[in-house]
Amino acid sequence: MNTVKTIEEARHQVKVWKKEGYSIALVPTMGSLHDGHESLIKRAAKENEKVVVSIFVNPIQFGPNEDLASYPRNLTKDKLLCESAGANLIFAPEASEMYQKEVPTNVSVQELAVGLCGAKRPGHFDGVCTVVSKLFNIIPADKAYFGEKDAQQLAIIKRMVRDLNFDIEIIGCPIVREEDGLAKSSRNVYLSSKEREAALILNKSLTKARQALSDGEKSTETLKKIIIQQLKTETLAKIDYIDVVDAASLTAIEFVRKPILVAIAVYIGKTRLIDNFIYES
Ligand code: AMP
Repeated sequence: MNTVKTIEEARHQVKVWKKEGYSIALVPTMGSLHDGHESLIKRAAKENEKVVVSIFVNPIQFGPNEDLASYPRNLTKDKLLCESAGANLIFAPEASEMYQKEVPTNVSVQELAVGLCGAKRPGHFDGVCTVVSKLFNIIPADKAYFGEKDAQQLAIIKRMVRDLNFDIEIIGCPIVREEDGLAKSSRNVYLSSKEREAALILNKSLTKARQALSDGEKSTETLKKIIIQQLKTETLAKIDYIDVVDAASLTAIEFVRKPILVAIAVYIGKTRLIDNFIYES
């Protein structure tokens, strides 16, 4: 497995593989890799002959008061995980390789980015769509793998690919959790041991909502109330948002029908964590 830092090197390697007729997968990440990323890479390796993992902490998807500077980085450890999971190439550019000094040309998926994290993180999904478009142009893979952990991101990328005719198939992969239910996240390293314990409230509150749905609850307001009630039992938790939306359009709904996305963002201390589930009614 090779690690390259320039667009030219990445392009060259992928061109060679394409010429040789290999199927190619891309797994975009921001590094500090964990079992969630590993599951994407392993699946990509199973379904494709060559796997490229991009590792890039994309500055333009962070807001001014967010954690760009402190975001965990560990390329040495990431290389080991990529290699053992079956990756063939890591593309790990510096920000100066990806962006010129001027404000970059922007890719914006408007409709799906209005609510949920989009409402709380202005400009975030423009940053994501812009960097993912660039990655798709640098590494013209057959398939790209994204986690359902970032459900809104996945929906937006699928829409972008459809609307802009990118010749790539987007594969969504299930959320990987710790044994106690906490969704794996690079940001979990920010949590103190007390906060780590408190963070379990995210999955616990979603489990309550899922149970209510199984018991026949149809009102999305009631579902939100159930989640709020549960989250309020944890003093370290501060709700950023709770949303129950149509899983395809991400628009608010009053009553449960069709697949729905139940998504939450919660601060545990200073750390903002997200979690969700999709319920097929
Ligand atoms: P990130 O490095 O956080 O930008 O994530 C890179 C990719 O890994 C995204 O497609 C995420 O949705 C996915 N991912 C992150 N955490 C998990 C998880 N716990 N389970 C499954 N996929 C994940």
